[in-house]
Amino acid sequence: MTKIIIIGAGPAGTAASLKAAEAGWETVLVEKDKLGGTCLQRGCIPTKALLEESHIVKQARSNFGLGDVNEVEIHRRKQQIVDELTQSLTRQINAKKITVLPGEARFVDEQSIVVDDTIHTADYFLIATGSRDRVFDFPGNAKLWLSEDALTTPLQSNRNLLLIGGGVIGIELAAYYNDLGHRVTILEKEARILPGAPKELSQSIATDFKKEGIRIITGVNIHSITQNLDYEVAFNDTVEHFDHVLLCAGRVPNTSTLGFEDIGLAHTSGLITIDENYRTNLPKIFAVGDASCRVQLAHVATRQAIDVMEYLIHGKNPQPFFTPFVIYTPVQAAWIGAAEAQLIANQTEYRSIRQPLGALAKQKIKSDGRRYVSLLVDPSNHILGVSLYMSEAGEFLPFFGLLMEMKIPLDQAKNLVFPHPTLSEAIGEIAANL
Ligand code: FAD
Repeated sequence: MTKIIIIGAGPAGTAASLKAAEAGWETVLVEKDKLGGTCLQRGCIPTKALLEESHIVKQARSNFGLGDVNEVEIHRRKQQIVDELTQSLTRQINAKKITVLPGEARFVDEQSIVVDDTIHTADYFLIATGSRDRVFDFPGNAKLWLSEDALTTPLQSNRNLLLIGGGVIGIELAAYYNDLGHRVTILEKEARILPGAPKELSQSIATDFKKEGIRIITGVNIHSITQNLDYEVAFNDTVEHFDHVLLCAGRVPNTSTLGFEDIGLAHTSGLITIDENYRTNLPKIFAVGDASCRVQLAHVATRQAIDVMEYLIHGKNPQPFFTPFVIYTPVQAAWIGAAEAQLIANQTEYRSIRQPLGALAKQKIKSDGRRYVSLLVDPSNHILGVSLYMSEAGEFLPFFGLLMEMKIPLDQAKNLVFPHPTLSEAIGEIAANL
């Protein structure tokens, strides 16, 4: 029987282990913490659970004048969701007779790892050890919060918070704290927040955040952070004080303790080098997810895990895919496919279509504001890229992804009937007007 050892039980490791076990392989899953990894324990799920609650609080406040809320209760509900999902994942893993090995794995050689002083060998290894918060040591003595602290620690009301880093995690946490009535400042070193997102989405979020009272300062250079009774932060040519400082400065691969040097595994600053089949420079060792991929998303990690197992079990080569991106601010920003700047750079012929949602009944019911669907299409109306700024935008990406994947021109969507009142009617309007 073929044996695989998978290191790390995040979305990548668990998806791969289920696939391997279903194929009848002897499957061992090594995990030093809890099943579910960053995504379930300290990433996607806890943030989205907190945001779901904070958006409700915010709406109840602005629509009905609700007073303060106890953040402890919000955290309790979040933890309940995480625990229930962890139990359900554990049941799935157990049902497939996957051996879960608690502990930290380190390679001894190309065929074996050590976990808690015991050596384990296998035919194949899959590294799915994910990533962790990047930590910077600013001059000064301050101990800064990382995203995990934010996700586990309820605050007293009306705190003055600084978030360093205007990437996706920083932006989502800023929305969460602002919803709950805290004062929020974001310091971003780049010229705009969300430098990895399409420009119009990043501008829309920045505009809405400013309206909400969130301060955004870009092009920032932080000189020092000193912690006494509060945090004194010196940046650019000013000094300000905050109750808490949260560092959201990206993520680094979780690979430094795997023993790469001992076995000669190739990497760049910890990011494992892989080929198109997720194989490392050592033929029996593969790597997927945040440990080897610059696009750090749970669904990308899962897709890679399924692809690598399809390759190992059935010899199928991975196919390219469109990656959906979602930012879970109160108004979601979501995108898939090419950005306009990319099309211009590649001299691709395209047309840009922008449909504001202001006139839609469902948009009025949900909230007012500047919401839109923005599409880039080729001369025969095939979609090249999509940017959405609207409630539940992420739910629409698979629809556009399918059109793109199946190469169906957008005008064919005019044969569809869109339920009323829904936000999806915007797509019907665009198709009808093409
Ligand atoms: P991970 O989920 O990081 O899992 C790796 C596992 O390996 C961990 O459990 C770790 O304990 C274990 N491990 C590490 N080293 C060893 C070792 N030597 N031995 C044994 N075990 C080891 N992505 C989205 O798609 N949507 C979101 O909404 C989203 N929100 C996020 C919010 C936050 C705050 C954060 C931090 C991340 C978020 N992400 C989101 C990113 C997502 O969580 C990651 O891309 C995803 O978890 C990566 O999956 P993975 O399986 O590669 O690694």
